[in-house]
Amino acid sequence: MIALVPREFHLFQAAGRDFLYLVPSAAVFALDAPTSAVLRVVTESTGGEDRVVETLGDRFDEAAVRGAIGELLAVRAIGYEQQPDPEPPRVLPMMPFPLNTMVLNVTNQCNLACTYCYEYGEDKIVDTEHGKQSKFMTETTARESVEFLLKESGRVAHLTFFGGETLLNFPVLKTTIGYARQRAAELGKEIDFSLTTNATLLRPEIIEFLAENRVGVTISIDGPRDLQDKFRVFRGGAGSYDVVAPKIKELLRRHRSRPIGARVTLTSDTLDITRIYRHLTEDLGFWEVGFAPVTTSPNQQYAIGERGFDRMLDQFRALASDFLAHVVENRHHGFSNVKDTLEEIHKGVSKAYPCGAGLGLLGVSTDGDVALCHRFAGSDAHKLGTVRDGIDRRAQASFLEKHHIADKTDCRVCWARPLCSGGCYHEAHVRYGTTTRPNLHYCEWIRGWTDTCLKIYGELSERNPEFLTRFDREETRAEAVL
Ligand code: SF4
Ligand code: SF4
Repeated sequence: MIALVPREFHLFQAAGRDFLYLVPSAAVFALDAPTSAVLRVVTESTGGEDRVVETLGDRFDEAAVRGAIGELLAVRAIGYEQQPDPEPPRVLPMMPFPLNTMVLNVTNQCNLACTYCYEYGEDKIVDTEHGKQSKFMTETTARESVEFLLKESGRVAHLTFFGGETLLNFPVLKTTIGYARQRAAELGKEIDFSLTTNATLLRPEIIEFLAENRVGVTISIDGPRDLQDKFRVFRGGAGSYDVVAPKIKELLRRHRSRPIGARVTLTSDTLDITRIYRHLTEDLGFWEVGFAPVTTSPNQQYAIGERGFDRMLDQFRALASDFLAHVVENRHHGFSNVKDTLEEIHKGVSKAYPCGAGLGLLGVSTDGDVALCHRFAGSDAHKLGTVRDGIDRRAQASFLEKHHIADKTDCRVCWARPLCSGGCYHEAHVRYGTTTRPNLHYCEWIRGWTDTCLKIYGELSERNPEFLTRFDREETRAEAVL
């Protein structure tokens, strides 16, 4: 009889039982006792169906074992030796792909000089001081960008403002929102607005405008004073915490129409995740906090090295346990990294590309050049057209052709690929000098974190399944701007 062999899956335990994450379909299954036992026998020994039935004969009757084998074969968790599954087809997205999110870099200038910033350090892609791009976007270019977005989008469009420091160009941001809202209504589309800011320039009339216009706000902030002031400094070196903290409190007090989130950049010197989270939610009042490791070349002293990734994973896990304890009791918890990954798991996301960059998400430079995302805006090497001439479809097709997961050798055999798909292009560019390389320096961290989120998903599927079903009802969120 032909031997049964395991196929591609990741087995994990949660809520006292086994779960299976099936890699080709990105589906999660809770296993009953006979199915768990069959899977273990097939994984740990060699033999055909009869052998499995015989091995498990003292625990389960034959019909239950054969039924479990049939189910595992049907979902392709196991297969027959010498009958490998066909290679998954290398499917490229149907073109033209609708533009979901446009990130408008309304300025490439900043009033802070954060020492780790990719715009200013040796890692920068675009010369914002002496380059050919204007320092500020004009109202005309912003309007042309809106027309471009509304032409390329489906029924719903997301417009995100970014910098530099976005609020340095508040006048253009303000008129663009009014214009975009009017044009979207004329064209029968919905449009939604958000921005990222360092909070230094928030003042009452800006806060009022953001609240009245339901603009989603993400604040870049690194935590309590001692951590914020390590890197997030003004040009003269003074820390920014005392400037931003009262402004953030005022924003949170007045702007209640949408949840306000904090976005934290982690470095090897500031890996105090629980303390940062507590300060930002309990002392300042943020609804959500998301963390991302700094993007930098490995030789920077603040880069997160291998031991740092281990430490970061331990801390992420501790905060994720806190998240689970809250959610099981239907209490809010704002650790957005875990919530975002749970949503992707629940929706069965399986990515051919790591993010929407170059596809459903595009960045626009101050002069109107269209690029992969906001981090590449203004880079000639990553240009995909202009807002006036439209998307350069050949350049876009060539980018998608070169970056498909099927061509990333290490990722093709990795169980975490449905959610990771090789990781951020910008990080790869900074680390390896090319967007085509997967970010192999953080695979252990990605797999460890994905395993943690799967376990939380398994726990919630048993202990509070209602929490997960709300992902079915929520509108697909705008792609995260990192
Ligand atoms: S980058 Fe690493 S973790 Fe991510 S899919 Fe590729 S091999 Fe897996
Ligand atoms: S993950 Fe990286 S490449 Fe993708 S949108 Fe974010 S910064 Fe750009």
